[in-house]
Amino acid sequence: MPNRKNLFFFYKQTPELKEKIAHLRELAHNNGFQIVDEIKEANIIVSIGGDNAFLQALRKTNFKEDCVYVGVNIDQLGFYTDFMIHEVDKMLESMKSEQVEVRKYSTIEVTIDEETPYYCINECSIRSNVIKTLVIEVLIDDQHFETFRGDGMIVSTPTGSTAYNKSVRGAVVDPRLPSMQVSEIASINNNDYRTLGTSFLLSDDRKLRLQIVQDGNDHPIIGLDNEAMSIRHARQLEIKVSPRQIKVLKLKHNSFWEKVQRKFL
Ligand code: NAD
Repeated sequence: MPNRKNLFFFYKQTPELKEKIAHLRELAHNNGFQIVDEIKEANIIVSIGGDNAFLQALRKTNFKEDCVYVGVNIDQLGFYTDFMIHEVDKMLESMKSEQVEVRKYSTIEVTIDEETPYYCINECSIRSNVIKTLVIEVLIDDQHFETFRGDGMIVSTPTGSTAYNKSVRGAVVDPRLPSMQVSEIASINNNDYRTLGTSFLLSDDRKLRLQIVQDGNDHPIIGLDNEAMSIRHARQLEIKVSPRQIKVLKLKHNSFWEKVQRKFL
């Protein structure tokens, strides 16, 4: 990684972490990295914390395509965090000796009511805010597919397929498949309401539209990874696989399927 030397640390400003970061800054400096305080000057963004911190780092830095993201965990390895804080010296060594590689993870692009798009690396979820079912018209490539009635829906990326999507029995998808998965949260299926009832996978040239039926339960919660949107009265979400890919530094021998095995089996 010869040209990538400007490093920005993203972390929660607690006294405990500040102390740890001071040590990391020194280590990084001694290994030839330059620590920058402005995100726009960075070409490496290091998030300190679990998957939660990593997801926040992406959102707060606007899913930068010209940076490599590195997830450094404090207690245990996560899905996006391949490195441990007490082994950062090893990490810097591996970076120098090229024992690491940069993986590209795909994102989905979510446009709410024709406004500026948002990006997600895990999923976009839409859920009822009250104890009343939410009604959503589901359109694929502008063609009506089904009318959903239930708690909500999840549209996940392949790397997000092991998160919320998996809890509702969605499939785990290989990140090499450019796609998005649509999963239901507690749909009502009876003689009046009918949905597919299983998750389905859409290819990267499809466009999904979720139209919220305005029936009194029309201000659901919209989740973009681990951030809730405060938009009230959203009318529709347009979701597609985005051409924007995020570069993530990972250990060479720690593939997606090894992580799935380690975490779930
Ligand atoms: P959190 O603190 O609620 O933790 C959720 C757990 O999901 C953590 O153990 C985290 O490490 C793990 N996780 C995050 N991304 C993952 C991924 N891609 N694959 C496997 N595990 C993953 O919240 P957080 O850490 O900020 O994570 C936010 C994510 O939590 C959301 O993007 C959503 O996927 C997930 N979530 C899950 C449920 C559920 O399973 N019922 C409900 C809400 C949110």
